[in-house]
Amino acid sequence: MKFDALILKIASRCNLNCSYCFMYNLGDNTYKNQPKFMDVNMIDSILEKTASYIIANNQKRFSFIFHGGEPLLMDKEFFRIFVTKANKIKEQLQDVSFYYLTQTNGVLIDEAWCELFNELKIYPSVSVDGTKMAHDMYRLDHKGNGSYDKVFKGVATLKEKTGIADIVCVINVNEDPLATYASFKEMGAVAVNYLIPDYTHDNFPFDSTGEKTPMADWLIQLFDIWISDTSKYNITMFSGLINAILGLVTSKNNESTVLVIETNGEIEAVDSLKACGHGFTKSGLNIKTNEFTDIINSPLGKLYFEDSTTKLAAKCNICPVKSICKGGRLVHRFKKENGFNNPSVYCHDLIKIIAHIQNKMFELFPDLYTKENITAMDTNEIITYLNETYLTTKDSVFSDDLEFFSTH
Ligand code: SF4
Repeated sequence: MKFDALILKIASRCNLNCSYCFMYNLGDNTYKNQPKFMDVNMIDSILEKTASYIIANNQKRFSFIFHGGEPLLMDKEFFRIFVTKANKIKEQLQDVSFYYLTQTNGVLIDEAWCELFNELKIYPSVSVDGTKMAHDMYRLDHKGNGSYDKVFKGVATLKEKTGIADIVCVINVNEDPLATYASFKEMGAVAVNYLIPDYTHDNFPFDSTGEKTPMADWLIQLFDIWISDTSKYNITMFSGLINAILGLVTSKNNESTVLVIETNGEIEAVDSLKACGHGFTKSGLNIKTNEFTDIINSPLGKLYFEDSTTKLAAKCNICPVKSICKGGRLVHRFKKENGFNNPSVYCHDLIKIIAHIQNKMFELFPDLYTKENITAMDTNEIITYLNETYLTTKDSVFSDDLEFFSTH
């Protein structure tokens, strides 16, 4: 088990009420039992356990991600105390770099917050879903008002005062990808982390037969705009896929490089799996009494940190793009009836976008591909192969392990 970042849920409430939020609106209500804010007394326990983990694993880099709910609801003094104490620990550890980040909805960003980010070297990232139309469709306040105008202002202040404008965008296929791409250029974004929405097989709103692939079609348009733009901002998803396809890095779809500390100190494997149901991510572990690595003894922790890219459904095991896709994100594989014993809900979308990017690389670097004897990929051929082979394939040898998580 190896991770290099802690997600710290320093606030368990939010000033927005986004309809797709896995924290509050996808069936997990455990936030109601959490204190509204992390107690400052928790900081010593977190840093003590972090130091032990770093020493035991000889880590050279470690990140603290202030998260929520909405982290900027927290008192600024908490950030000062945390970073001051953490920097002291870093000096004692020597030869390790600490990074401080925060993921905010951007509504509260003002000059005072920017000063704090500069003072403590906290790197903020703001959630914006593209255009005002796309953003205000889901990212509403508790009175049902869209939040785009406030967020736009927040990002502008951030850019002006800190020079940083990193965005996280949940894809809204109802908006034109060109308009979405252009909206972030208008914002002066340096990097945009486009995220595929966190649906499971139980609440997937798109064509569940996989015949229609709106997500892939949207992403393909975005990719083509992006790749031909000479003044592009970084799109993490595309640079990651290109690097994985070219074999420059291992595909990171397993996401298992972070550990979550809840507002009351509970240790959890991954927060996006809250979308699988009420209390799904609870491990019974707490920072006060347990080590980080105890999470590996919980079934979900073991799956997330050790097995998420190897224990796959039967179809994924025979899939030609498995080395890039790795079965997709865990949350997208879940179904109440049989746990994680499924390909991603976005399976055909993933095949299509991977094939498209690989074929684009083929066009750009023909010599490389000819040398390696690689030919262009055909999405339909892969899907037909998978469907036909799957009919004659025995169930995954991991079926029992994956279906253990069934909630039926
Ligand atoms: S593309 Fe589909 S079948 Fe292939 S690994 Fe990904 S989810 Fe599994």
